[in-house]
Amino acid sequence: MSFKKDYFEIRLESIGGLGANLAGKILGEYGALYLGLNASSFSSYGSEKRGSPVKAYIRYAKENIPIRVNSPIQTPDILGLFHIALADKEGVMSGVSENTAVVVNTDKNPEQVRDILKMYAGKLYCIDALKIAMETKSRINMVMLGAIAKTNDFMCIEKLEQAIKDTIGKKYPKVLDQNLEAIRRGYESIKYEEIKPDNKYEYIIDKDIERAWGYKNAPIGGVNPCFGSAISNDLTASREGYVPVFIKERCINCGLCDSTCPDMVFQFVKGEYKGKESMVNLGPDYHHCKGCMRCVEVCPTKALISEIERDADILKTHVRNKDLIIDKLEFEKVGASSFVTSESYTEEPNI
Ligand code: SF4
Ligand code: SF4
Repeated sequence: MSFKKDYFEIRLESIGGLGANLAGKILGEYGALYLGLNASSFSSYGSEKRGSPVKAYIRYAKENIPIRVNSPIQTPDILGLFHIALADKEGVMSGVSENTAVVVNTDKNPEQVRDILKMYAGKLYCIDALKIAMETKSRINMVMLGAIAKTNDFMCIEKLEQAIKDTIGKKYPKVLDQNLEAIRRGYESIKYEEIKPDNKYEYIIDKDIERAWGYKNAPIGGVNPCFGSAISNDLTASREGYVPVFIKERCINCGLCDSTCPDMVFQFVKGEYKGKESMVNLGPDYHHCKGCMRCVEVCPTKALISEIERDADILKTHVRNKDLIIDKLEFEKVGASSFVTSESYTEEPNI
């Protein structure tokens, strides 16, 4: 056992759909049942839909020290950042000091990431969790768990693997091997750099953040006027690493994609199809797409095809266009996308 304080604290910062909530629960169970510690874990999140922010908190204490604190973690020993797009969100890097291990899902190296995070000091671990998750057909959270275990000498990787076998292995035995491979690769593939305080960036104190919309002032009915909750998704990657490309000419406007999509991504407007009045599919609003590919499976005409983001040139100019101007919100009255639309569909892939 290597930690000397009463509590060892882990904070996971994530976007809905990346599995941070589950990772937090696994870490809690792992500490209590496999490391012989006292452990607690809880999460704070909204709907998984549209990539709302997620935070998970895990506390460990030695066997003879009861955990009596149940507040959010302000000065983490480990900070797990599940998406680099979270870097500039207020409060994400708060409490990070020279004693903190920061584990970031990114394809960049620690030198670049330190500047992106404006990191004061600490131990910076970079892991390309998205790439590994895609290669192993696993999930980002499994890779992140492996990487987190590497940051200290008491989170034994073999015991973590056993915890996964006993939990996910029992529930989803068919995907156990790929999850174990993802964990192991997360553990073995990190890039590491120690950052000493050098006055380049300041220490960020944890403080209450006043949001534009909260429980006190949200519009009636829970409408979120901030372009869905995907405010944290800057299109650098969908959450699963894939995106559906829409081929408009093949679309028969059947609406199956719209009723299948869990994140209400498709934009239908009143129009004309084959000479008749119809709802017409304008395609996906990629700001909200998590890349699950259910729409591709369900589309009867192959109007939606699957692309791996990193390899698809077309997506660099269209889907991942960071200059998309979204300045107009419309509140619709009917349909699955009835609460908000944006104009991010206006650039259609030129296939
Ligand atoms: S399922 Fe395919 S054909 Fe039907 S509306 Fe969606 S994209 Fe068009
Ligand atoms: S991949 Fe398709 S079904 Fe999945 S979130 Fe994106 S648009 Fe919706």
